[in-house]
Amino acid sequence: MEIITRFAPSPTGLMHLGNARTALFNALFAYHHQGTFLLRVEDTDPERSTPEYAHQLMEDLQWLGLAWQTGPTLGNLEGEYFQSHRQTVYHQYYQKLEAESLAYPCFCSPQELALSRKLQRASGQAPRYAGTCAHLSSSEIENKLAQGLKPTLRFRVQRDQEIIFQDLVRGQQRFASNDIGDFIIRRADNNTPAFFFCNAIDDALMGVTHVFRGEDHLTNTPRQQLILEAVNLTVPQYGHISMIVGDDGTPLSKRNGSQSIDDLRKMGWLAESVVNYLARLGHTYLEDAGFQSLTELSSHFSVERLGKSPARFDVQQLKHWQQNAVTHLDNDRLWNWMQTGIQTAIPENLREAFITGVRANVTYPQEAEQWANILFTDDINLSKEAQQVVQTAGNEFFQQALAALMETQGDYSSLVKQLKNTSGKKGKALFMPLRAALTGETHGPEMASLLPLMGLERAKKRLQKWVD
Ligand code: GLU
Repeated sequence: MEIITRFAPSPTGLMHLGNARTALFNALFAYHHQGTFLLRVEDTDPERSTPEYAHQLMEDLQWLGLAWQTGPTLGNLEGEYFQSHRQTVYHQYYQKLEAESLAYPCFCSPQELALSRKLQRASGQAPRYAGTCAHLSSSEIENKLAQGLKPTLRFRVQRDQEIIFQDLVRGQQRFASNDIGDFIIRRADNNTPAFFFCNAIDDALMGVTHVFRGEDHLTNTPRQQLILEAVNLTVPQYGHISMIVGDDGTPLSKRNGSQSIDDLRKMGWLAESVVNYLARLGHTYLEDAGFQSLTELSSHFSVERLGKSPARFDVQQLKHWQQNAVTHLDNDRLWNWMQTGIQTAIPENLREAFITGVRANVTYPQEAEQWANILFTDDINLSKEAQQVVQTAGNEFFQQALAALMETQGDYSSLVKQLKNTSGKKGKALFMPLRAALTGETHGPEMASLLPLMGLERAKKRLQKWVD
């Protein structure tokens, strides 16, 4: 049987780390089994859904590298993978359920329902639908409709049943049907379908076999199972993954560090870092597994390794994967990322050497810009530490350094050898003032790779300045 997983976002906001991880786990599971990762846009709430959000979330998925094999094409915001275009499908199932008396119109007003709940609570009962409209005759229904009353559609839940399912992450789950009560599957206003109704129907119709989603949806599952069984559709296997919490232990939100995927990209995070980090939030890889490509992540992905306890978001971990990503990516990929932050013109013929030279010292594109500036513009500012180092070294040292530079024509190791002899200095006292005067910094990439990039002329001027 082909494995089909899906990501089914509601386009009511930007994609955050939580839903990106849901998408990732579904994608990794599908890729692992050479299955299909499906994308479906759940835009049934016309007030909160926007085409802009739908478009953005497709772009975000693409940026993360999570290719979907079935679903809308980027740039096209219409068609069968948008729930707003599937109303007739849902309508058919509503009719079927009503015709078989598995669902019924309910005319109770919100006030009546609130009152009933209050009474139930007061008498120590859990609030659930009291069944007021469960057995209306067809003439009663017609009368109410004739009065212009707009009903909701309620799913009829059999009493005294147990709904059992095997959750892929949390093991066997049991729910008492009496605790659920008859529930609304279509709202009164404009006949808007309840989210979990279309969600279940579409999963079944689209052949989805496995659903990974946040544990906040766990209580929807028994209802969805009842709906699908009632219309004779196959129930997918559900796995409810633990929530991501912030460093304060509360659900991840803007307040405790969550950013949208769009923000993270704009801030200079690499997709590979985000993916490597998210794949380990609530899922463990073998201890020795370092930075991995998406293919590697998927080949080692396993349901058994999904955790039940909340996963804590830690920006330091994200940074750790960013540093890893920078060391692992090839120059082309790295250049695509670096250049988003680089304003300084880098001579075409020096680009490769530049990327290779600075990559170990760059975590964000802005840092690449800082090195581009140091290497390819004439004026540099010395950091405080660099100034101190340069002053301590004194004019004579730079005179000797300049002589060595000219004689060796910028070959760094010969330069150092000669300067060691002429100045009598070694170690830090030799290397630091050179670095400080040439780059304005007391740390950074290997000088041997920086010197050819900045060029003999620039290096000469920078040393000359401290001779004068
Ligand atoms: N549209 C729902 C959401 O974004 C999907 C829930 C699910 O994955 O089943 O929360």
